[in-house]
Amino acid sequence: MKSNMPRKDPIEIVRNIGIMAHIDAGKTTTTERILYFTGKIHRMGEVHEGSTAMDWMVQERERGITITSAATTIYWNNHRINIIDTPGHVDFTAEVERSLRVLDGAIALFCAVGGVEPQSETVWRQADKYHTPRIAFINKMDRVGADFYGTVNNIRKKLNSNPIPLQFPLGEGELFTGLIDLIKMKAVLYNENSLGALWEEVDIPDALLPKAKEYQERMLESVSDYDDQLMELLIEEKPIPEELIRRAIRKATLECQIVPVLCGAAFKNKGIQRLLDAIVYYLPNPTEVGAVRGTHPKKDKEEVRHPSDDEPFSALCFKVVSDPHVGRLNYFRVYSGKVTVGQTVYNPTLNKRERLVKLLQMFANKRVEIKEAYSGDIIAAVGLKYSRTGDTLCNEGHPIILEKMDFPRPVISVAIEPRTKADQDRISEALARLADEDPTFEVTTNEDTGQTIISGMGELHLDILVDRLTREFKVQANVGKPQVAYKETIRRKAVAEGKFVRQTGGHGQYGHVKIEIEPGEPGSGLVFENKVVGGAVPKEFINPVSQGIKEAMKNGIVAGYPLTDIKATLIDGSHHDVDSSELAFKIAGSIALQEAARKADPVQIEPIMALEVIVPDDYLGEVIGNLNARRGRIQGITPRKKAQVVRALVPLAEMFGYATDLRSISQGRAVFTMQFSHYEEISGNTTEKKLERKSFARG
Ligand code: GDP
Repeated sequence: MKSNMPRKDPIEIVRNIGIMAHIDAGKTTTTERILYFTGKIHRMGEVHEGSTAMDWMVQERERGITITSAATTIYWNNHRINIIDTPGHVDFTAEVERSLRVLDGAIALFCAVGGVEPQSETVWRQADKYHTPRIAFINKMDRVGADFYGTVNNIRKKLNSNPIPLQFPLGEGELFTGLIDLIKMKAVLYNENSLGALWEEVDIPDALLPKAKEYQERMLESVSDYDDQLMELLIEEKPIPEELIRRAIRKATLECQIVPVLCGAAFKNKGIQRLLDAIVYYLPNPTEVGAVRGTHPKKDKEEVRHPSDDEPFSALCFKVVSDPHVGRLNYFRVYSGKVTVGQTVYNPTLNKRERLVKLLQMFANKRVEIKEAYSGDIIAAVGLKYSRTGDTLCNEGHPIILEKMDFPRPVISVAIEPRTKADQDRISEALARLADEDPTFEVTTNEDTGQTIISGMGELHLDILVDRLTREFKVQANVGKPQVAYKETIRRKAVAEGKFVRQTGGHGQYGHVKIEIEPGEPGSGLVFENKVVGGAVPKEFINPVSQGIKEAMKNGIVAGYPLTDIKATLIDGSHHDVDSSELAFKIAGSIALQEAARKADPVQIEPIMALEVIVPDDYLGEVIGNLNARRGRIQGITPRKKAQVVRALVPLAEMFGYATDLRSISQGRAVFTMQFSHYEEISGNTTEKKLERKSFARG
């Protein structure tokens, strides 16, 4: 084991990347190949030249190498690459956001036949938001119908970006035998006997030379602004060293001005090594991403941490998993400073100290205990008891809260019941562990019925969790009918007072506040502000007032659903020198909120889902008719080959059983994806309808 101990790598050789792909584009295959090839390099000494790549792959596959952890470390070309797992399914947008927070660059994988799928656009836009530099890999070049240039155009138009091919394929479909490397200006021919693992570099055939020159010129022009030396040579029409070209491409990529495009066929092992080279060449190291910002937990002050081991320690926990061997495993990214195993770190959000009992570096087929972790590293720790996904860990003397990740609130719930007595004993523990791993999954108890309720982001999300309950935790459970998580909000500004006064013998109670509420930003929950100055409400009672307001928001006015998206401002109040207490002000806050909400035109709101249906032309009419019947609003219909892509907003309450319906009206030929979009007032919001909904939702 010792020889495998990762050493202290200079931060410049670290790449933290993710692979973004539409389902079925080949992410699993590509990741597997990356692990094979990098593993192979590791063991180069053992694999004698004669043995084919395939022999070796079969062995590795038998040992079950796949990416199974939230982050896996590989080495390539003396660089350390941490691959952060990004989920393939759009139901889990929160997971994508979370991984984008900790990675510095990404490979965007496209299928050469499918091109840019509508769902890839969502992820792409998220990456735009985080300014994540990207390389595109156009996979499945060996498939019939593969279209490299069409996909490049797609990337330009649909994703509104600037794709620059660094290669183009030699042949497509069955004839895909290699590629033209526009940096080396060589033809790369894959050796079919080695299943693509070996290749030859030869001169570009004369017939292809003009095209290669044209593409190279286009590539050079698009990056020439990024390197003066390159620009000069280009103007003087002198040969440009490869190094210089790569330097300019790197710069343009890091500034998100271009997306270098590569191609290959992961399944046939073609293009993988070059993809690995490109990660090293063109994606940033942690210092190139720059400093992270956060806030001081106590003072309202911005804190900045540079990616350097000399800065105070700061890290972001981006995933919690319950591991069968070691228990709770926290994956985190170190942004600044370093930590040593055994050290105590500080969680400023929870105000807790946590001890790093073990530090682990995760490889594809093993985990290695390490002694220290440095800036830019991505590692897992054992021993943290409290810290959750999204929490910051830092040096207590230099506290910082890194920008928190926003997770959407669950929109759908089901009641869940253990089947047997034995299941009953295990279920709460199992559910608690699943909720610990996944911030968009909640477990609550219905106060009226005592039932356990689980809530998540969609039917599929809950199905997967219930499935994990059975497989991983061996708990059998019955689940009820899914119910929509309705909420309430307000439409107007209102002011109200809350007063809680009790005179009982000795010590009384006195709390009095005046608040103003108004509609808040969608998704903001409660935003509380204090505008009382001069001590009408003493400082120590401000927090209790906000807690009281928060608590009162659990039960809305219209139908008892939780209130949300309210901005509440404390504008006045009064206190009593002896009788005032935290409790009295908390109750006063609750009373004021309930009173104000009543006056503020409260309404019931429901989750609206963004739906994308890909449907062959023949079934378009029926699919649209069906969506209309479900209170759907069509946002757009765009043709794609022989199909149409329908985008619509549909209330979640109308989406139950949609998969089955869609299958039957399209004879199984339409597919759909759905993700939470926003909450909205129930259309046709009559009292009758509300009541009907209420009884439906609460069973
Ligand atoms: P994921 O859903 O993105 O993880 O996709 P997978 O890696 O599971 O691949 C989906 C399907 O495409 C599988 O049947 C793969 O064998 C196949 N596939 C992946 N890469 C290629 C490729 O380069 N060429 C061809 N022809 N098929 C591929």
